[in-house]
Amino acid sequence: MSRSGIGRRQLLAGLAGATAGIALTGNAAPLAAREVTRWDETTDVLVAGSGSAACSAAIEARLAGAEVLLIESLPRFGGSSAMSGGVVYAGGGTSLQRAAGFEDTAEDMYRFIAGNSGGHPQLDKIQRYCEESVEHFDWLVAQGVPYNNRFTDVKELTLGDESLYFSGNELAWPARERSRPAPRGHVPGLPGMTGGRSLMEALLARTGSLGVTQRASTSARRLIVESDGRVAGLQVAAGDALYNIRARRGVVLACGGFIHNRDMVQRHAPALFDCSAPWGNAGDLGEGIAMGVAVGAETLRMHQGFAITPIYPPESTLAGIVVNAAGQRFIGEDAYYGVLGDAIAYHQQGKAWLITDAASNFGFHQDNFVAVAEAATIGDLAVRAGFPQGALQHTIAYYNRFAAAGRDPLFHKQSKYLAPLAQPPFTAWDLSVKRAFFTAHTFGGLHTDTDSRVLDSRGEWIRGLYAAGRTVAGLPVAPYIASGLSVGDCTFFGRRAGVAAAGSGGVSA
Ligand SMILES: Cc1cc2nc3c(=O)[nH]c(=O)nc-3n(C[C@H](O)[C@H](O)[C@H](O)COP(=O)(O)OP(=O)(O)OC[C@H]3O[C@@H](n4cnc5c(N)ncnc54)[C@H](O)[C@@H]3O)c2cc1C
Repeated sequence: MSRSGIGRRQLLAGLAGATAGIALTGNAAPLAAREVTRWDETTDVLVAGSGSAACSAAIEARLAGAEVLLIESLPRFGGSSAMSGGVVYAGGGTSLQRAAGFEDTAEDMYRFIAGNSGGHPQLDKIQRYCEESVEHFDWLVAQGVPYNNRFTDVKELTLGDESLYFSGNELAWPARERSRPAPRGHVPGLPGMTGGRSLMEALLARTGSLGVTQRASTSARRLIVESDGRVAGLQVAAGDALYNIRARRGVVLACGGFIHNRDMVQRHAPALFDCSAPWGNAGDLGEGIAMGVAVGAETLRMHQGFAITPIYPPESTLAGIVVNAAGQRFIGEDAYYGVLGDAIAYHQQGKAWLITDAASNFGFHQDNFVAVAEAATIGDLAVRAGFPQGALQHTIAYYNRFAAAGRDPLFHKQSKYLAPLAQPPFTAWDLSVKRAFFTAHTFGGLHTDTDSRVLDSRGEWIRGLYAAGRTVAGLPVAPYIASGLSVGDCTFFGRRAGVAAAGSGGVSA
């Protein structure tokens, strides 16, 4: 990974190596401890994965005095976390928010996440996350993640070196009426999209300096289970050999999501399967989820994920309108692009178009979205793009009438993005999940409690087993309302997994 960050083409090229993947349980069937004739190695806490969830777990387990072994299936550490923007959603009055002059409370943060995260989110996790967010941000700083005190009001992930911005839907309607908006996207303060790498460089360095043993090219294959159901360790593969590793206190599964297990995505998250750009590192194969399911873990929200339509930057495009196949608007265009992507992928059968005029056109060459029609009048555009007769004309006449007065009665788009679509040429851009640059990764995974303990279908803890990050159904749900909720969830509940595993009573000798 170079310091200059990841371009779209590089990203897609890098993903081409992802394999077809495994079935949900498949070869992850557990191994009975009584069949283990030899333990090749013993540790206190065994962590599978090396992303932000895994490293946070390993750090806390080590700080709690446990001997920790961290294994990674790929030759390099860092996972999708290292590819990411490194945005962490934090608030409630973090040191950075205060230094940049913003007031925020845990209650407002809770109201934003709980009130906008789809139906029936896991409120106990949200509450814990918000209440301890200030401390969690301080913890990231203490691990060496570099932040500065600068804020930017750009709507996109900051490509400058500012560390604070509005990373989600806080200013869009109706979110802005449900809680007081505050910028909560905390990004390592280096230029370009290098935040994930900075974050992971710090967390991996910290795991190393604390004495966590880190082993690459070592893949968790099957959980080893005692006769009473307690998880005792992992069978792992390194090269052609299989090894049995005993974990006295606990196993933490932090193997990421499953966007590159195409068979699993097709069966469990069909709306994501159709998205053009699976987003994640090549290890995102669902192996952690499969191992958990094989020992009886419950899964939640397997169909949900992050579906993104990045129609900004530039923000000038937000003065355009987004319409469905009926030529009708269905969302305020100033929505966070995860909210827009969710609306298209899950609620509009994967199809939508951005309509711009000369002023709201992209204004530079871009290849994320294809122009399917261009015309000097809205009527001609509607015919060329194939909208039902008169529908687009009606939509734009209604929109223009109120936009001229700075109003949007349907979706209350912020007035700074409101202007009549009046200057030809008019263009229709294809935002469909299959033809646009439509990135996606998964949110569904194992059911865990606020201590990151893996639960079975009766809500009981599978003793000895913990999980965190996108192996788990955590804070990120559909719609995904803000950048940073995923890595925030990974690091926060990864830490809790480490603390809980280190404090666990341990398996019988
Ligand atoms: C380009 C991009 C930008 C993003 N930007 C952001 C952002 O700014 N903020 C945000 O919140 N989210 C962002 N996301 C999403 C976020 O990066 C991920 O959801 C998050 O990093 C997942 O972290 P994790 O620790 O669960 O998994 P990962 O970081 O993917 O780590 C899991 C690791 O486990 C390894 N593994 C898999 N199977 C096994 C096995 N059987 N044994 C051992 N190891 C195994 C994998 O190879 C991988 O290295 C972004 C994603 C992408 C792709």
